[in-house]
Parts: sequence; C-alpha cells; structure tokens
Amino acid sequence: MTQIRKTIAQGRLAAVAATLIGLALFSPCGPVGPQAAESNAARTVAITFDDLPHVNAADPEAPLPPTLHAVRQVNRDILGALKSHAVPATGFVVEKRVEQLGPVGKDILKDWIDAGLDLGNHTYSHADSNALDINAIEKEIVDGERSISPFLFRSAASKPRFLRLPYNHVGNTPEKQQAITTLAAGHGYTLAASTIDTSDYLFDRAYEKALAARDTAKVERIVAAYLDHTREQITYYAGLNRQVLGYEPPAIMLLHVNSLNAVTLDRILTLFEEAGYRFITLETAQADPAYQQPLTIATKFGPMWGYRWARQYNVKVNGSAEKEPPDWVVKYGESIQPDL
Ligand SMILES: [Zn+2]
Repeated sequence: MTQIRKTIAQGRLAAVAATLIGLALFSPCGPVGPQAAESNAARTVAITFDDLPHVNAADPEAPLPPTLHAVRQVNRDILGALKSHAVPATGFVVEKRVEQLGPVGKDILKDWIDAGLDLGNHTYSHADSNALDINAIEKEIVDGERSISPFLFRSAASKPRFLRLPYNHVGNTPEKQQAITTLAAGHGYTLAASTIDTSDYLFDRAYEKALAARDTAKVERIVAAYLDHTREQITYYAGLNRQVLGYEPPAIMLLHVNSLNAVTLDRILTLFEEAGYRFITLETAQADPAYQQPLTIATKFGPMWGYRWARQYNVKVNGSAEKEPPDWVVKYGESIQPDL
C-alpha cells in the first residue's frame, strides 16, 4: 500500500472510530457493537446534475432543441423525484444557457434553491478546458458565476463552493492540471469529483429520437436498457473504487438535466436504495479522506475518479471490464433522423 493510500486508510479509521464513539454516546439504545457500526457505515451517494438548466437548452447544435415548456417540465420532474426520495442534490449551471433562456433560466435556478438544493459552477459556455489557456479558463469560471453567485455566497464562508469543468477535464498536461487546481482554489472553489458515469447523454440522444419518431416500443426498450446499464455501472464503479482504495468512499453520481433522466430519475434513485445507498450532499461526500488527498495526475479525457485514483496510486485496473452502452442504442441515436 502506498503512503497516500495509507493516509486515506488512517483517515478512514479515524472517521469510523469517531462514528463508533458518537454511537456509543448518543444511541438511545445504549452502546452498540461492531455489527451496528457496520450497518451505520452503509453506502452513501451524492447525486449531481450537470448542464443546468437543460443539456440541450438554447443549443443551436442540439438535434432536438427543447421548448421552454419542456425545459421547465424536465426540471419539475427531476425536482419532484429528488424530493420524493429526500435527495440533497447539487446542480452544475452553464451560465450562457441560463441567459439564453431569459427569465425562465433564472426561475429554474430559483426552483432548485427553493427546493433546498445546491448549485455549482459549470462555467460560462461549457467550453473544453483542454482547448483553452489558463486565462480563458479563468474567464469561463468568473463569467459562469453571474446567476449563481447570489446563491454561492448566501451561506457561511466555510461552506465549499463547487466547480465542475465541462467533460470533467481538469488539465491535460501536468502544468495545466496544477494551474487549474491553483486557479480553482484561488476563486474559493473545490473541484467536484464524480465516481459513477452512465453515458446518459448517449441514451438520451436515442430516447429523444425515438420520442420524435413516436416509436413507443423503442422508447421503452431504450429506457429499460438505460436502467439496466445504470444498475451495472453502480456496481462496477463501487468495485473499482474498492479495488483501488481498499474501501468504498461515498459515491458521486454524474447525471445530466435531460428528458430521459426526467422520466427515469425515480427509478434510478430506487436502484441506489435497493443497493443499500443513503443520499448525502456533495459536501459530505467530498469530506471523505479519499477526496481530501489532492490529485496530481493530468488526464486528456474525463475519467471517473476510480480511474484517476488508480493512476495516482499506481494500482493496476482493468478498464476493459467496464461495460459500454449497447451498440444498438448508440447507433440508433446517431443515425435516425427526428422527422422519420
Ligand atoms: Zn456538462
């Protein structure tokens, strides 16, 4: 075990010890044994959404740009599912899309805040930081704060403000990785991690096209395939993190605000509950020692944190064991025209 993994393990032990002491002191049933501690140390997950107010809103390149009504409805459905499962989610906002939606964009952000949820910065225009120099990245971060800053600053200064750069790109060279880390900290941000990815955008693209084609059977098949894939990915990434770190840190689910998640979120949250997960805030998740150790690796792509930890701590993992979304879903999403 490397020194850093040892440090994480020690931090973890201290956290478990604190939990045990807390349970012994405060449990109404008196002191509890290791068995109870085990069940209290159950799995946890923070649910995060990227691309608020809507992944395809005001995007001229979107194959099927949603109406304002659809954008509002997708957010209502997502907020409804989060509420019914008591999920303290965080939404990452693309400021340019808020501006392009006019008053509706700001109303949606307010709905998230009124629901007791948190907002984070997902930059101004969703540009790829791999293609930008550090000054341009800084401008993207600062301009990305326009609508969310009243919410970011509303709480105590000790509350972390989260930044997630588009595509999870946080530096494709060691110099840029270091510069982005310094830049984010300088603006008071914690970089948001993510540990579970389902390629939901690929399923959503197929789903949108099947809807437009009024192909009900296809819609149902895509939804079923998406939920199957999500269940498998939850399991896969838990195993990956266990292999790399020696335990399962709080998971962080990466989703996007899109039509498919609006209709499936209730079932996705149920999948987590069935696998023994409890929902926590991103702040609580990232307080775990696994996230407190700074990552120093550069990545050209935006892998989930399990793979980043594997590289950082020199743990060999078999990425090819991860299942890809079914070919037929990907091909259908790419090829079928919306008016067919
Ligand atoms: Zn994004």
